[in-house]
Amino acid sequence: MPSVKVYARSEHTISRTLISDNALKVLYRLRKADYQAYLVGGCVRDLLLGREPKDFDVVTDAHPDEIRAVFRNCRLIGRRFRLAHVHFGNEIVEVATFRALNDDGVGDRQHGRDGRILRDNIYGTIEEDAWRRDFTVNALYYNIRDFSVVDFVCGMDDHKAGILRLIGDPEQRFREDPVRMLRAVRFAVKLGFTIHPSCAEPMPRLASLLEGIPSARLFDEVIKLLLSGYSVQTFEELRHYKLFGLLFPETEQCLAREPEGFPLVFLAKVLERTDERIQGNKGVAPFFLFAALLWEPVRILANAKIKAGDNEVFAYQEAASEVLNRQVRSVAIPRTISLTMREIWTLQPRLERTKGVRPLKLLGHPRFRAAYDFLALRAETGEAEPELANWWTRFQSANEAEQRAMTREGASPRTGVPRSRSRRRGPRRPKVTHDT
Ligand code: ATP
Ligand code: MG
Repeated sequence: MPSVKVYARSEHTISRTLISDNALKVLYRLRKADYQAYLVGGCVRDLLLGREPKDFDVVTDAHPDEIRAVFRNCRLIGRRFRLAHVHFGNEIVEVATFRALNDDGVGDRQHGRDGRILRDNIYGTIEEDAWRRDFTVNALYYNIRDFSVVDFVCGMDDHKAGILRLIGDPEQRFREDPVRMLRAVRFAVKLGFTIHPSCAEPMPRLASLLEGIPSARLFDEVIKLLLSGYSVQTFEELRHYKLFGLLFPETEQCLAREPEGFPLVFLAKVLERTDERIQGNKGVAPFFLFAALLWEPVRILANAKIKAGDNEVFAYQEAASEVLNRQVRSVAIPRTISLTMREIWTLQPRLERTKGVRPLKLLGHPRFRAAYDFLALRAETGEAEPELANWWTRFQSANEAEQRAMTREGASPRTGVPRSRSRRRGPRRPKVTHDT
């Protein structure tokens, strides 16, 4: 076990100007009350990169009741593990007591099958707190007493080398909590770090352990993975490590069937747009993203039903229900989101009807805009008729007389008959290389 290393203020690059005033207030106040107080985790990791952290986690030797006694604006939360939330208007600074994970069976730590940790609720020392964390770069402590960085796990060396490495035995740590595999991908992409080979190697082998994770937790992780602003690369890495198929089994089957075909081109385009929007500080709608992720399975199933004689709209409704029912077993999609996904899907065949009174009615549909955007992306990537998408683009900006004329004619005769998918293909994405 390496001994502790302390990096003095002059030996690291953390600038207090990037630490929020409220986090500093919390740290100073604890310090003044004679408790230890550190920043830890993602915020220290990000500060070392000169990035502004999205939130600040504080750890201390004070117990929850003692923390509450120090702050008036404080609430204790969590049943499994109690922590304090210190409120400052919109900002919350989370304050936790050092926690241990000792293997002596004392305390109320519980293991499930496969060595998964179900509960852990034992207070400990700062060093114990470091060892229970996931990656070495997530276990660095910024000490408010002297502005040093305290490192028990050689996290600073890994941070400098850009390496993401689990603390301890990788396989055991992944078995304890398989979500760490998803976190590995998320952090590696976000930070531009390399997953250490000792951690990368077991991931495809252990990917199926994600089946044991509650689907609601996986939904939270998927949101973090895909709304990170780096979803294109994240998606590629998730597939590389065989994790994606555990999250979206039917989508992965479609992708595997046509390794370079429409499903991949379409998803790459949607994810690219998502990243652009996030990087441009524009909002993104999770329902749109999820609708895209599951479009191919829904489309294929709906087409099979249509071939078997079902009416189009009904076929899409049924396909949507079946695909969603199976999907929520792995990643629970909340109903508010899945209802809108269904609307986008079932509006797709309705958008093919461009004659008569229907188009005008459809313009007033609350989900028209999302469904039209969806159609435009399908057309752009070769699965829907571009002329159909163009028709709707023109229809929206046409005046009444023009609209009447347009609905007499309808879109061009080829409308509604998707071209052969192999004929139109978007630009290929450069492949991610894996040197390790
Ligand atoms: P982000 O920038 O996404 O917030 P983060 O590192 O702060 O990244 P959190 O999920 O907020 O991630 O967790 C805070 C810290 O708690 C981590 O840095 C890590 O030290 C510890 N941690 C979180 N999840 C786990 C886990 N599954 N296993 C072990 N330690 C964890
Ligand atoms: Mg965090």
